[in-house]
Amino acid sequence: MSEPAKEFSKGFVDFIDDAKIEAMVAGLKEDPVRVREIIAKSMNKEPLQVEETAALLGATSPELVEEIFAAARELKKNVYGNRIVLFAPLYIGNHCINDCKYCGFRKTLRTTIRKTLTTEETVQQVTALENDGHKRLILVFGEHPAYSPEFIADTVRTVYSVRSGKSGEIRRVNINAAPLNSDGFRIVKESGIGTYQIFQETYHKKTYAANHPADTRKGDYAYRLDGLSRAFEAGCDDMGIGALFGLYDWRFEVLGLVTHSLHLQQRYGVGPHTISFPRMRPAHGVDIGQTHFVSDYDFKRLVAILRLSVPYTGLIMTARETAEIRREVLEFGVSQIDAGTRLELAGYTDKDKSKQDLKREQFQIGDVRSLDDTIRELIQTGYIPSFCTSCYRLGRTGEHFMEYAIPGFIGNFCTPNALLTLEEYLMDYASDETLKIGEKFVDDETAKINDPVRRENVLARLKQIRDEGKRDLYF
Ligand code: SAM
Ligand code: SF4
Repeated sequence: MSEPAKEFSKGFVDFIDDAKIEAMVAGLKEDPVRVREIIAKSMNKEPLQVEETAALLGATSPELVEEIFAAARELKKNVYGNRIVLFAPLYIGNHCINDCKYCGFRKTLRTTIRKTLTTEETVQQVTALENDGHKRLILVFGEHPAYSPEFIADTVRTVYSVRSGKSGEIRRVNINAAPLNSDGFRIVKESGIGTYQIFQETYHKKTYAANHPADTRKGDYAYRLDGLSRAFEAGCDDMGIGALFGLYDWRFEVLGLVTHSLHLQQRYGVGPHTISFPRMRPAHGVDIGQTHFVSDYDFKRLVAILRLSVPYTGLIMTARETAEIRREVLEFGVSQIDAGTRLELAGYTDKDKSKQDLKREQFQIGDVRSLDDTIRELIQTGYIPSFCTSCYRLGRTGEHFMEYAIPGFIGNFCTPNALLTLEEYLMDYASDETLKIGEKFVDDETAKINDPVRRENVLARLKQIRDEGKRDLYF
């Protein structure tokens, strides 16, 4: 199969000015007065300009950094509520024509065990995920001619078609795959995907070139940078951006992400739906050194600063991070996490789910807890685990914007839907221990709903789920 021709979005310009960002990073210095002014702007839910994000990055004294942490916590609590959306990644195939230095799937790594799930295997994996209680998946693909837009779209349809048990169905399928051309994005969009994620990996061109050989398809920085603009023009209005932290100076990458986010917002009137900030993990056959390793402390700074910079954007933290770090960073405004994750191809049907086999994985994960353990801990720490897919299914796109911008939206829609989907999980999938604490938690959180009419509506639906076996109820 030949590779599809490369094309660019209308009037494409490379909007990342490396020299300008480099100069900003070099000139970072602490200015407490400005930092406090900028924090006040964030608390007003205004997206920050790149220079303002840079000013937050300039804060290094522990007291001022603590003020940034406190602001991120407050923004999360007051504006965003206490829901955490849960999903699982499903690796469909690890054949790859690229040679990214950091990745266990890169083509020159001969020892990697390669595999593409057959339709039957996909059904088996999805069934296993549904039997754990999952409702939202992200399908992950290497880049390979076999993973054509048609193949991706067919896989999405297969995933949506799988039903298992009482309420087992996948209600939202997101994609993490290589950038396509417009026709490709259109074909994939038609299969009913949610978010299309493409990580730039590093916004720093020299580092990009050092990690992605020029003679590979991914070696073209501009084509990748333009990927989500093409996606938007082809009708995919739900975009996820990200950078792989550990390749270059984390502060440069944060400024790159904010620049990309502002670019999409300015050009299309819609910012990214989500930002991901994976930290580099050990991987089979990978040794890229520790020069730009991001410490746990700096990781917390980057998440808090992103939270304050892009108030309308969901933040995704994956199981690359350990359970301990996830616990700490959640409070800074993360809105989605994966749980019960297996990266191994066909790993969800393995008996020993905590086992990791690096030769079959892209990298090693840090949090190997089950979905049920993760849910129980979220509840114990006061978060409402949510499988809600309502906005997307009702065509309320740009929901993150609405969550913030429409007064009462969270209270009227997000929290009730989170509680209803949690109740479904408790009824159909939870362990006895999780069920016990979960039922009380759902009742307590429902009692906190301010609007009496909405509260009564939620109570009525909870009763339908508990006593009448109804499922998939949402507002
Ligand atoms: N092949 C597609 C691509 O490169 O865009 C799909 C994505 S790849 C399977 C998913 C993401 O995993 C990459 O975009 C990269 O950011 C991340 N990744 C690769 N190697 C990693 C590692 N060693 N540690 C953590 N994340 C890694
Ligand atoms: Fe292939 Fe993606 Fe891994 Fe690069 S990051 S080698 S493109 S799977």
